[in-house]
Amino acid sequence: MQTTEQPINETVQSAWHKRPLIISGPCSAETEEQLVQTAQRLAATGKINMLRAGIWKPRTKPGMFEGVGAKGLPWLQQAKKLTGLPTTVEVATGKQVQDALTFDVDVLWIGARTTVNPFSVQEVADALRGVDVPVMIKNPINPDLELWSGAVERVVRAGIKQIGLIHRGFSSYGNTEYRNAPMWHLAIDMKLKHPEMPFINDPSHICGRRDTLLDTMQKAIDLDYDGLMIESHIDPDNAWSDAKQQVTPERLAEMLDSLIWRKEDVNSDEYHAALEKLRQQINQLDDELMQILGRRMKIAEQIGQYKKDNQITILQTNRWNEIIDRATTKGDKLGLSKEFITRYFDAVHMESINHQKKVLDS
Ligand code: PEP
Ligand code: MN
Repeated sequence: MQTTEQPINETVQSAWHKRPLIISGPCSAETEEQLVQTAQRLAATGKINMLRAGIWKPRTKPGMFEGVGAKGLPWLQQAKKLTGLPTTVEVATGKQVQDALTFDVDVLWIGARTTVNPFSVQEVADALRGVDVPVMIKNPINPDLELWSGAVERVVRAGIKQIGLIHRGFSSYGNTEYRNAPMWHLAIDMKLKHPEMPFINDPSHICGRRDTLLDTMQKAIDLDYDGLMIESHIDPDNAWSDAKQQVTPERLAEMLDSLIWRKEDVNSDEYHAALEKLRQQINQLDDELMQILGRRMKIAEQIGQYKKDNQITILQTNRWNEIIDRATTKGDKLGLSKEFITRYFDAVHMESINHQKKVLDS
């Protein structure tokens, strides 16, 4: 179905393997001029590897702009012809997959509102059977890694070989700082689970605003993401969707220029020797921490025995509150965040309860 004269497959393959892989374009294709001009101005920066545009837009509420539909597909073809940029669109149904492929869209992506729904993901996967096209899968809107992995598995089972993951943040109630909370630790877990898949950050939908985009982009680079998908528009303030978070192609280029690209690794012996020494220290401390935790659990078991003999409940809320208060105060002085201390003590406490329970049940 790739009909263009240039060896687009090679172009797509080389784009797909670029690091960093930078994907940009409008949230939505609005008119042919808007899309083509955005693409041309992006291409002129020389910093973009792939053009994105929403053609079918799943919007939260009816009455919002729901995309131009299939009539925008020839516009994408035209933008590709004029710039050489491979294209990518969001697909949510089998019909959309077919339409996109008929019009030579090079890479497809599954949006966050689709990843949550196994029926829809399966429908998309079925339409992909026998097709050789890279597919990117956004995280589901809710923080559920199993659902995200499930979508990946459905697409893998359809025979798709090249799969990318897009981290666009997670919905949360009453969040003001981000449009979608990044929950970086969840994303990192997913990245570690699928190390062979390009891992792309979408700061536009995480931030929902322009002024914090750069920080989020830098954070993603620091966490060794393989690429970024950022929305851009020739006239961001007047965009028909997601106006607050889009930037002009030129502003995007400026932001990309100001990022600090850190290397994952370097080849200097000196650096490796220094790092190795520090890692040894970390290993040593981790061993000590585990021995201490083991001792702590032995004491918990003694307490368990005492509670058993005196028929006292395991959980004593007052005592627990006292532990947390003490720890957060001390932790603060040691530069440990309250959030970490609370999560750490929750885990320790749960383990402690399990040890005590074993004694009580014995
Ligand atoms: C988009 O990329 O414009 C979009 C709708 O994103 P998400 O699926 O992340 O909400
Ligand atoms: Mn958008």
